[in-house]
Amino acid sequence: MNEDCIFCRIREGALPAHKVYEDESSLAFMDTSPVSEGHVLVITKDHYENIFEATPESLAAVSNTVAKIAKGIRVVFSPDGLTVAQLNGSAAGQTVFHYHTHLIPRRDGDPMDLHARGQAEPDKLAEIAAKISGALD
Ligand code: AMP
Ligand code: ZN
Repeated sequence: MNEDCIFCRIREGALPAHKVYEDESSLAFMDTSPVSEGHVLVITKDHYENIFEATPESLAAVSNTVAKIAKGIRVVFSPDGLTVAQLNGSAAGQTVFHYHTHLIPRRDGDPMDLHARGQAEPDKLAEIAAKISGALD
């Protein structure tokens, strides 16, 4: 646990999040500044800063959860495409230094943004989280 890390604090329940799914080693929740409706983050439960620190087991857990959530997003939103992105280091655009992967549903013609400015309405995020969660195998 890294006290200064917002994702560790979410994992501990010390900060709120709209959780979609969790298993022993990974946790999925809504991005509060979504690039598109249905933007989900999947994190390792343990604190690793990036892909270079994360263990093979934790990377595998995130990967399996990403595939599970991707199918749920497809059921709920039927997007034209789905970006799966993982950033390492500020030069790559990483802003939260706890290993995570983005799932961003895309419509044809959407800009290929990885970050958004505005925050989504919490009620809306709760509704989407419940929908995706309910669509998981
Ligand atoms: P990255 O730039 O890949 O490190 O992505 C960090 C992501 O975390 C951004 O898309 C932020 O919108 C998102 N984010 C930051 N704080 C929170 C939070 N408290 N709950 C959910 N998502 C967050
Ligand atoms: Zn952390």
